Amino acid sequence: MRNIISNQEDPNMENGGENSSVAQEVKVKKTPRKITVLAEHAVNYIKANSVAAKSTAIGFFVFAVILTIIANVQVGYAVVFNNKTIGYVSEKDATLGKIDGIIKELSDSIEGEKDIDISADLVPSFAPDSRFVKEDDIEQIIKSELSFYEDAAAVYIDGKFAFAAKDADSAKDFIKKYQDKVCGDGTILSVESENEVTYRQEKVVYTEVLDLDAAMSRLSGTDSKEGLYVVKEGDTLWSIGIDNDMPTDYLMTLNNLDSEVIQIGSVLRVKYPEPIMDIKVVKDITYTEYHPYETEKRYDKSLNVGTYRTYQKGSNGETRIRATVTYVNNSEVEREITEKTVISEPVNEILLVGTKPKPKTAATGRFAKPISGGYVSSSFGNRSRGYHTGVDWAVSYGTPIYASDGGTVTASGWSGGYGRMIKINHGNGYETLYAHCSKLVVSTGKKVAKGQLIAYVGSTGNSTGPHLHFEIRKNGAYLNPTKYCGE
Ligand SMILES: [Zn+2]
Repeated sequence: MRNIISNQEDPNMENGGENSSVAQEVKVKKTPRKITVLAEHAVNYIKANSVAAKSTAIGFFVFAVILTIIANVQVGYAVVFNNKTIGYVSEKDATLGKIDGIIKELSDSIEGEKDIDISADLVPSFAPDSRFVKEDDIEQIIKSELSFYEDAAAVYIDGKFAFAAKDADSAKDFIKKYQDKVCGDGTILSVESENEVTYRQEKVVYTEVLDLDAAMSRLSGTDSKEGLYVVKEGDTLWSIGIDNDMPTDYLMTLNNLDSEVIQIGSVLRVKYPEPIMDIKVVKDITYTEYHPYETEKRYDKSLNVGTYRTYQKGSNGETRIRATVTYVNNSEVEREITEKTVISEPVNEILLVGTKPKPKTAATGRFAKPISGGYVSSSFGNRSRGYHTGVDWAVSYGTPIYASDGGTVTASGWSGGYGRMIKINHGNGYETLYAHCSKLVVSTGKKVAKGQLIAYVGSTGNSTGPHLHFEIRKNGAYLNPTKYCGE
């Protein structure tokens, strides 16, 4: 009979011992995904040879009884392991149970592809008392026969195997280093662990004999519990992290993610470390707490509407805090503040808010057409008689001209080809100019409001008929006026 057993698909693996038998020929083959154990049971082998076996067995037992009486000899089973008798036992089932346990342990632990050939026979036999061993000891004897087992220092936490190191000093050092890592820096008041840690020198399957890094991750539980998560609509790495009790950066590392962008339907690996030791650390810590300042607004009649000024600069308050903090496995569970020293109180920022109405003569920043009516008789820019620095509106003689925006009159008088002209500085980098006027009504230095009458249309200077020549300049450069105030 051949059983093909996989540890993922078939539960028989665990109770293989129950229907197991006197001899086992076991092949363990493990790929990263699947372990296959092939077992051939010698019970069937013996049954097949039953006639010969029975007669031999009867003769054997008669002979054995006689021997037991006359000499210091016991009847039982020779444990033949890989064709070598390694000892004698009196209990068959218990010994088979141990052998099954060893096979299971090996199957579970072997990583990568590996063939193991193990043959174990229990042969009815007799031997001197001194050659008999306890069933418990047979396990250690078999392990010592197998190169998959090493003599190592096993660490048990609360009676459960945690890991093994090559020797006791290393094992103790790993535990100490793990505790130090959990404790971290700072002033440590106390370190406690309620777990009972014991060390035993024994045969340990080789994959469980760990180095420092592997022992650390075993203790911190980072190599335990893993699952898969399918990303749903509305999920973020952060929300998945919260649900699975994992920090976002750990989730990213685990899944080799470069960015936090995740696609719906993609599968993420999730796991949360579950330390196998609980370490409680109490620390005395000091830190600074900041109290942000507030901004207070004060109205100021001397400032124009829409303007602000900082009257007093704000500064944050600082308090020096001393606390006794309790952590379990690096997570804070309790914080008691033992000392508070105020270093500085927060100082409010005071902001002055202008309430003074803007003078009517202030620039609004928007230009109005200075006359009503008229038509563009010559537009801005290149023309046959050279570059035109403004726009000409042909309009009846005597039409009133109004300031295009508020400002200060910087010129009012005759200026060569412009004839009678007015220039207004708007105080914001802009200037406007009104030329060929018949009459000027504001003088240099006067402040004018937007829409205030300043002159009348005429045909003075270089002009062939009544029109207004209007310019807008920004920091000295000519702009096309119709773009600002229409045609
Ligand atoms: Zn012109």
